[in-house]
Amino acid sequence: MSDGPADRKHGAATWIFVGLLVGAAAGIACNAWVGPADPDLRWFATRVAAKAGELFLRLLFMIVVPVVFTSLALGVAGIAGGRGLGRVGAKTIGWFVLTTAFAATLGIVAVDLFRPGDAVTPEVKAALLEASKAEAAKRIEQAAASGGFSIDLLLSIVPRNPVKAAADTDLLGLIFFALLFGIAAGKLPEEKRRPLVGVLEALYEISTRIIGWAMKLAPIGVAGLVFEKSALFGGSLFSALGAYLAVALGALAIQQFVVLGGLAWLFAKVPPTVLFRKSRALMATAFSTSSSNATLPTTLATAQNEFKVPADLAGFVLPLGATLNMNGTALFEGVVVLFLAQVSGLELTLSTQVLVVVLSVLTAIGAAGVPGGSLPLIVTVMQQVEIPPEMLALVLGVDRLVDMARTVPNVTGDLVGALVVARSEGRLPP
Ligand code: ASP
Repeated sequence: MSDGPADRKHGAATWIFVGLLVGAAAGIACNAWVGPADPDLRWFATRVAAKAGELFLRLLFMIVVPVVFTSLALGVAGIAGGRGLGRVGAKTIGWFVLTTAFAATLGIVAVDLFRPGDAVTPEVKAALLEASKAEAAKRIEQAAASGGFSIDLLLSIVPRNPVKAAADTDLLGLIFFALLFGIAAGKLPEEKRRPLVGVLEALYEISTRIIGWAMKLAPIGVAGLVFEKSALFGGSLFSALGAYLAVALGALAIQQFVVLGGLAWLFAKVPPTVLFRKSRALMATAFSTSSSNATLPTTLATAQNEFKVPADLAGFVLPLGATLNMNGTALFEGVVVLFLAQVSGLELTLSTQVLVVVLSVLTAIGAAGVPGGSLPLIVTVMQQVEIPPEMLALVLGVDRLVDMARTVPNVTGDLVGALVVARSEGRLPP
């Protein structure tokens, strides 16, 4: 019995997790013993470990466009065939917005309670601002180029050319096209629809096979990615921003393990122990890649293989979730904006804090599921509540760590959304 497919799958998830732990432990040890400036360590981290990680990342990204298109088109055609698309769509979006708003509120309450901004001395503030000035300027430029909130932002969801949207990994544009394509396919007469669905299913299966091969590299790729980041991490930053990191990481852990674990238990009848045991590969991939998009193939595989979410529902909810549903990011935005306000000596009134929640939800929906995808949007939020955008420099030095941590609830939130929607439709096995 020990080498059945289920055991093999659990074995693979365990190895990915082991890769994560080994990479982190080795990176932290090297960082402490030889120091992040050591040339040999830098060479190994950037030329060997990071390259192994990049190979894994490239394979995952390679498969994102075919997976998003085929899973969404099939999902929509399947649900639309049963005429439940409006209902499932409304539940999905409603769930995403409510959980994201809750997460942003949790972040703000945590900063209000623990006031990490008060722990930053003027000297530390000046040094951090100086160190990340150039990076902050880049993010501000990106924010200006995106044009902020406007009608054009909404219009840009409709791609002029779906092939170009796919080529640019403009997932919102691709999703819009796939949704319409799936709805139209669902309306075709049966004899035309069947061969098309057959082709899409074959394409989807080919994609999942390639993902399976990529995931064989996951233990090494994950170890490499985490080793590079932890070995080169500046430890002094950690102590300077200890209070900020403790509040941000603590609140993200509460969102992940208490809020999402509790919601899955309450609304999908999946106990937290089962949820987190079966999501090990998912969490390790999200943590090491810092990217909801790169993790999407793993999220789809986990939902269908581990939790038996029907393919049409998983294919509909999860690609939307990877792009629109980011509760870790919304929580982080609440934390960072309030923290920077505290450091700047600004006390945000209750109504401004409510505005920060609303803006965090909107920008988390708009953020791309790539490393640092939310940073240009945070600049926009800061401008709206009159915090000087250059202040973002303060937290950029430690952002990769927070990015890894916030991507985990981002993707777990998508999975829980799929479980809850499937349960409410009566389509999740007991
Ligand atoms: N890295 C995050 C994600 O892909 C986005 C962000 O918060 O920057 O989900």
